[in-house]
Amino acid sequence: MRSSLPVVNLSEATYECIFGRGCDGICCQNGRPPIYPDEAERIDANLQKFLPHLRPEARQLVEKQGYLSNRRKLGLPMLRVVGGWCIFFHQGCVLHKVGSAEGDKYRYKPCACSLFPLARNDKGEWYVRQHGYENEKWNLFCLDPHASTKPAAESLQDEVALAEHFTRAEERTPCAVG
Ligand code: SF4
Repeated sequence: MRSSLPVVNLSEATYECIFGRGCDGICCQNGRPPIYPDEAERIDANLQKFLPHLRPEARQLVEKQGYLSNRRKLGLPMLRVVGGWCIFFHQGCVLHKVGSAEGDKYRYKPCACSLFPLARNDKGEWYVRQHGYENEKWNLFCLDPHASTKPAAESLQDEVALAEHFTRAEERTPCAVG
């Protein structure tokens, strides 16, 4: 079922994630999403599940120093980067893969990653990140509106539904996206 959440440029935006079909997951390169306390609790409680899937150097760092860095965004700690990639990246997102295997790809993934490429503007309106829109600075090819002819309204149904879920719960858990 389609979400009724207003997304300002949804009708004109185009987007398709081609991870594994020509993209190695470059949105996770130097990926440092901020982590909410409840997300950290969920990751902590399930860390033993993720460890065997991590790159050896990432596992070593997590076991020695944890997965959060001292950097902060919006007052929240951010994930560490090792070898130029998010600590949870190993041929894709380990948090995504483990969640998917359990039937919910969003179960452990930080909301900032789960909602990509949706973001909110200064007015709090949801929009699809695209080059040439809202001063988009991230030079990812998938944010080029010419990279795909697929309507974002089709390809981003899960993300829009998730954004609606977060919007409803906003008073309790505002999500750091954008
Ligand atoms: S948590 Fe997962 S999706 Fe987010 S940057 Fe890290 S590897 Fe990528």
